[in-house]
Amino acid sequence: MIDARIGSDAVGAGRYAPSPSGDLHLGNLRTALLAWLFARSTGRRFLMRIDDLDRVRPGAEPRQLADLAAIGLDWDGPVVRQSERLALYRAAIDRLTTAGRTYECYCTRREIQQSATAPHGPMGAYPGTCRTLSEAARAEHRANGRPAALRLRATETDFEIVDELHGRFRGQVDDVVLRRGDGIPAYNLAVVVDDAAQGIEQVVRGDDLLPSTPRQAYLASLLELPVPQYAHVPLVLNVEGKRLAKRDGAVTLADQAVLGNSPERVAAALACSLGYPPVSPTELLDVFAPTGLPREPWVLDRNGLLQRTRCP
Ligand code: GLU
Repeated sequence: MIDARIGSDAVGAGRYAPSPSGDLHLGNLRTALLAWLFARSTGRRFLMRIDDLDRVRPGAEPRQLADLAAIGLDWDGPVVRQSERLALYRAAIDRLTTAGRTYECYCTRREIQQSATAPHGPMGAYPGTCRTLSEAARAEHRANGRPAALRLRATETDFEIVDELHGRFRGQVDDVVLRRGDGIPAYNLAVVVDDAAQGIEQVVRGDDLLPSTPRQAYLASLLELPVPQYAHVPLVLNVEGKRLAKRDGAVTLADQAVLGNSPERVAAALACSLGYPPVSPTELLDVFAPTGLPREPWVLDRNGLLQRTRCP
């Protein structure tokens, strides 16, 4: 029977939004599988967006898409690229600027690292150096040729979100960069604008992004955009407890193919890593339940990882 909800705009959408910086590794593929399961198991559309405002490696995007399809994931509609949506981000930035909510920042990364955190701000927050610059000081910076980033003039220091796996999470909000010094809209702004514009109201991604989520939700609220439902899922780590990286052995589908492991086999191992039998994504849909998901990272050893992944 065809589920009438699928494909309907009313039901909303989930998404996967890779940065095309190289081949997807098993951690990325597992997060993509989870995002797909969360969306598809709730009758949502599943959208694919390429976050290509920075960290672009030529040729990475088609390989990423081919790998996602090879493990059995599909998506609705055309692939969307952030680099093709600059006007949308600029309009949002203009809106905040018109509302008096932005200021130019001339600080270099180094200066920010060297200055103390704002007196009442959260650790690591932008200290607000350029927040109160006089027009004369700004003019001097401009005359010196320093490129200005545009920052949000935040009026909160923290903001609470609700996450399906982490519950209520309160995190820092600071004068986040909206437009980088090179004129390109910043990731935190673009992601918020896109999710709303694409009707995405379910965001499933790695839990390394949880700390920046309150900033994004705060930005969404300032732009009067709906705040999505979040699920930040555990990462895949190497034996040293660090986030999986290329140097950790056979971490991509191409590496696994060399070891004789087909994409189907990798997909089955990913299912096992989530506590399910070694089945395909489509078969997983029947049994998928977010509440039963492992809350701990999946730790992989080198090369033998798939052979040693224990299946229930
Ligand atoms: N493009 C981001 C990344 O690959 C993810 C953005 C998101 O899921 O919000 O790290």
